[in-house]
Amino acid sequence: FLGYGQQHLWPDHPDFNNQVLALSIPAIFIALAVFSCNYLQTRQQAPRWHGAIVGLAALASLAVVPALLDRYALSILMALPAGGALLLVQLAAALHIAARGYRPARFYVLAWTALALGALATFLKVFGVLPSNVWTEYSLNIGSAIEFVLLALALADKMNTLKAEKLAVQRQAAVELERQVAERTHELAAANERLQQASITDELTGLYNRRYFNLIATRELNRCRREGRPLAMAMLDVDRFKAYNDRYGHSQGDQALAALARAMDSQVNRATDYLFRLGGEEFAVLLVGVGQEEARQHVERVRRAVSDLQLAHEGSERGVVTVSAGLVWRETLSDLSADQLYVLADEALYRAKAAGRDRLSE
Ligand code: GH3
Ligand code: MG
Ligand code: MG
Repeated sequence: FLGYGQQHLWPDHPDFNNQVLALSIPAIFIALAVFSCNYLQTRQQAPRWHGAIVGLAALASLAVVPALLDRYALSILMALPAGGALLLVQLAAALHIAARGYRPARFYVLAWTALALGALATFLKVFGVLPSNVWTEYSLNIGSAIEFVLLALALADKMNTLKAEKLAVQRQAAVELERQVAERTHELAAANERLQQASITDELTGLYNRRYFNLIATRELNRCRREGRPLAMAMLDVDRFKAYNDRYGHSQGDQALAALARAMDSQVNRATDYLFRLGGEEFAVLLVGVGQEEARQHVERVRRAVSDLQLAHEGSERGVVTVSAGLVWRETLSDLSADQLYVLADEALYRAKAAGRDRLSE
């Protein structure tokens, strides 16, 4: 505009100078529109304004045609109104978007206001309204410089915003990951717990199984030996259960086993008392730290819980399902092993059977 290009760069080409101006004005408007659309994200933020901006930019770019045909005056006449309208529409779009809280649009409005004021001052100077001095002479450059700085600040702000958003997303992802890990860990722990539980319980009755009996019998025996406490073990076996199956069927036999297991379990409550299903219709009770008489009564209560169920059993002496028990009680365990304890209890059980069943032997 000020002629420096022609003065310093192409002093010998006045035609080219005309063309440069006529071509660069539409180019400036197109570049401006592209920048504004990208910067303000008009396509997403204000689709209608976006359409207007694109339309005006296209109109301004038509001014290239007369310029190429050496009709520079016509070209500038076409480009300037379209460009002016473009500037206004962009500013209006920016105001609209800024009002909706999109921060970069505020910087944009400030920046273009600065440039517009500079341009206005230049026009007013040209039309003689403002005096010609250093300020009005360079008002367009000053406005442009301010605009430049503001847009640079805006870009920095936008980058910061993007960085913050990225960080927030990352943090969110980390939190989500942590939550998932915690959830999986929890699920794993629960599965482990179930597995552990399954490995020590009997499926039919829900009582502890033989495997757990082997573990606990040895552990409790050693503990009682260490602490000098007495230990009682009882073996229990359902009387005439083969006959029960034969008469009532295996399935009802299973139901009877589950029912009598529940009944026995209701009599075994202390944390240090255990009831196991050793297999088939054989069970074991382990009582830690109780006296002989107490152990005897306790096992009797367990036994009685079964006959109290009054499950009909026509093939048995009593006419109902009963259990026999063999009890071993030791004040001190000296060097008795868990296996020996088991054998002793089994022998006592055999005596109970031999003596007529439905009783406790020692
Ligand atoms: P005793 O009074 O001498 O103990 O007679 P019994 O018939 O109970 O003794 P025996 O050991 O000969 O028979 C045990 C029967 O228990 C054999 C089998 O039919 C039955 N039994 C073992 N396990 C199960 C089971 O899980 N379900 C069912 N329904 N029956 C079982
Ligand atoms: Mg048996
Ligand atoms: Mg039996």
